[in-house]
Amino acid sequence: MSHFLDRLKFMSRVVSTFSEGHGEVVNEDRKWENAYRSRWQHDKIVRSTHGVNCTGSCSWKIYVKNGLITWETQQTDYPRTRPDLPNHEPRGCPRGASYSWYVYSAQRVKYPMMRGRLMKMWREARKTLDPISAWESISQDPVKARHYKSVRGLGGFVRADWDTAMEIIAAANAYTIRKFGPDRVIGFSPIPAMSMVSYAAGSRYLSLIGGVCLSFYDWYCDLPPASPQVWGEQTDVAESADWYNSTYLMVWGSNVPQTRTPDAHFYTEVRYKGTKTVAVSSDFGEMVKFGDIWLAPKQGTDAALAMAMGHVILKEFHLPGKSDYFRDYARQYTDMPLLVMLKERDGKLMPDHFLRASHLADALGQDNNPEWKTLLIDELTGELVVPNGSIGLRWGEDSAESGGKAGRWNLELKDAANGQAIVPRLSLADAYDAVADVAFPYFGGEHGDVLLRRVPARKLLLADGGTALVATVYDLQMANYGVDGGLGGPNVAAAYDDDVPYTPAWQEKHTTVPRERVIQVAREFAQNAHDTRGKSMVIVGAGLNHWYHMDMAYRGIINMLVMCGCVGQSGGGWAHYVGQEKRAGRPWRLRLTGRVRRAK
Ligand code: SF4
Repeated sequence: MSHFLDRLKFMSRVVSTFSEGHGEVVNEDRKWENAYRSRWQHDKIVRSTHGVNCTGSCSWKIYVKNGLITWETQQTDYPRTRPDLPNHEPRGCPRGASYSWYVYSAQRVKYPMMRGRLMKMWREARKTLDPISAWESISQDPVKARHYKSVRGLGGFVRADWDTAMEIIAAANAYTIRKFGPDRVIGFSPIPAMSMVSYAAGSRYLSLIGGVCLSFYDWYCDLPPASPQVWGEQTDVAESADWYNSTYLMVWGSNVPQTRTPDAHFYTEVRYKGTKTVAVSSDFGEMVKFGDIWLAPKQGTDAALAMAMGHVILKEFHLPGKSDYFRDYARQYTDMPLLVMLKERDGKLMPDHFLRASHLADALGQDNNPEWKTLLIDELTGELVVPNGSIGLRWGEDSAESGGKAGRWNLELKDAANGQAIVPRLSLADAYDAVADVAFPYFGGEHGDVLLRRVPARKLLLADGGTALVATVYDLQMANYGVDGGLGGPNVAAAYDDDVPYTPAWQEKHTTVPRERVIQVAREFAQNAHDTRGKSMVIVGAGLNHWYHMDMAYRGIINMLVMCGCVGQSGGGWAHYVGQEKRAGRPWRLRLTGRVRRAK
């Protein structure tokens, strides 16, 4: 019966009632309900995720009908990692749950679009000119170039066909290469982590024409360059479940519930174990309400905050030798005992290259790669030694079987020359030949551009007959943080209230964070790391990445973690968002990787 007739018979549509009149049986057309049924029908269910640069990589069931996505629900078959860790599932977020709407959205760009003004000029030029000459006639004519560039940002795109779009791009690239050189063509390719095939296509094209290939990371500044600067790799951090192993958790510039939604539960759950949480955020982000303490530095000043915390940690834990754990960790896993040459520049001593075996007479007995072998002083013998682990030991050594040094590219505390145990000396404070006034750059402005600070140094005879002053990274770091290692002098702080870079009082001027809070958090962070052998953690996010000198901010945080022996420890270290990509149960991605590898 039609809806119209149903309406006419409205008063007599009830056929019977039940449940004492609470229910009724009606005689009307219910075909409209089929629309609902169709909406949720499907032919099959496939597994997928939202791989458009979302590192959440959640696993979803995709319901498909006639080749179209009808709806999605979260997969619930994640494997357990450990019995004492919360389960990973349910993983997902509101953006992902509505993702299929994007796929079929009327606003989705499915065809090449070109500014209308450019399209008109291009078609006109192509009537008489070959593609490269056509591009030259437009791009090199100031009036024509201004005609389409001046309306950028004002819309005016029209749909182009693929042939036209390809031709104009190719012509522009070819003309640019001919006139200005191939390295004037710069392109971005999708990040390899999310789409290796797409990345390969873009990077191969740019490489073949001699252009410059940047990644999306460079574009939107997501890659923290501090990571390659410090470790030589991208962002190799633990997966998010490790947050649950932390006993002191700082969340710094990362709005975890909003931007790391599927992992946020590890952050909220770990508090029930008694883990203290500190939120560092300029705004009242959602993660702030989970923090026991909220530090709100002025935007872009996070480096100052981290440096002041480092100042407190060095002064209270390292200088008095309070933590054997910190010192042992610094000796074995960091470059702090390595020696750095001090070179004079513009009348001032500055930290220069690492001292290498090749700088010394007879290369300290190292025939193989002496220019790639760094040095330290062994506390047991007082002698200079090449420790295991420098890059020069990676290649070209004789095999271990023949008594050679292959297999010594590791961090065992041994002399690489003879395999004897060593104790790397961190500081020369009680064993120096000279006190050097070393110049450190300063970017804060109000104390000048260069800060001179006293550093204990050794004097060495070099292979070329000259002499050199050398200092340990540890002593240079202590000086750079404005901590008085017992040598006094200018630009070191006697107290936290001194306005000396990088004291808690100094940071307060820049960040507005009360100095007492900085001292408290730094103390707690370090004490917890000492008590737990490194289970202090910082979740860092792009909130502090999108500011100038963000590598300084990240490195300030990394330094805190290294000083406290947290990096590489379960429940400790830095947790950058890239860690999400390592969540458990990702067979779909492994399968893709396998295909790509086989295709090579
Ligand atoms: S975080 Fe959201 S968008 Fe990203 S994969 Fe998970 S559900 Fe999809």
